[in-house]
Amino acid sequence: MDIIRILMLGGTSEASALAEALAGNPRFDVLLSLAGRTVKPSAQPVPVRIGGFGGAQGLATFLQDGCFDLLIDATHPYAVNISSNAAEAVLHSKTRAFGLRREAWKPEAGDNWQAVPDVPHAIAALGPASRRVFLAIGRQEAHNAEAAPQHFYLVRSVDPVDPPLALPFVETILDRGPFEVERELELLTTRRIDAIIAKNSGGSATYAKIEAARRLALPVVMIERASASALPTVSNVSEALAAIDHLFTLR
Ligand code: NAP
Repeated sequence: MDIIRILMLGGTSEASALAEALAGNPRFDVLLSLAGRTVKPSAQPVPVRIGGFGGAQGLATFLQDGCFDLLIDATHPYAVNISSNAAEAVLHSKTRAFGLRREAWKPEAGDNWQAVPDVPHAIAALGPASRRVFLAIGRQEAHNAEAAPQHFYLVRSVDPVDPPLALPFVETILDRGPFEVERELELLTTRRIDAIIAKNSGGSATYAKIEAARRLALPVVMIERASASALPTVSNVSEALAAIDHLFTLR
């Protein structure tokens, strides 16, 4: 039996779930790659490496040197640089590749979403009058809020925003999903939030705030996804397992 060596670019719950599904199967030798943004990453069922590769060329060299048969880009839909590097790295190599990317959420009856292209536009969309905002976009781009210091911001992230936000009205919460609707409702009502800024991450782990916003009739400023992945893409773990089977049945 040929062992299939897989490099999986992760940092998402889908990557961990796929790693779990592949771990323990002697057919696969999986290495999960994390960027190193989270101080204490969750425990993983497969070996992990941490840190960038040095661009598309660095990733191509890593794939070649490690004799990987398959690259799976299971990074977050908003991690556009690594996804573009992944597509470029496999362009001229023999490594097969696909993306695992959650489908975007779609607005439902009762949702009040305003679509914006990026975080600076989301902050500008709050307008000049003071608002009470739940900034639920992670810590990396939270500093954009400093452009509009008249608002109160409730900022939730896995690790502290560093350097701390230079804002007069801010509360930070350290927490990691999955989140539940009841707790999100409590958070939004106790902080008297009147607007939410979110990324259209898809999946269930962070959807509770969207459902809570609907129930409370709160507006959501929704940062749109940039572009589709350049790799062929599946949207869940069972499709990923089927894609692996399909790619390697004839070996
Ligand atoms: P990014 O802007 O697309 O990537 C920036 C650089 O970080 C890449 O060029 C690469 O460095 C390195 N990198 C990113 N993901 C990597 C991985 N899985 N393994 C090794 N190196 C990686 O990414 P980002 O938006 O900063 O996201 C970083 C990580 O956090 C990703 O793994 C992503 O899945 C996760 N995440 C992101 C978000 C978000 O909203 N952006 C949300 C949740 C989780 P080199 O060029 O040196 O290789």
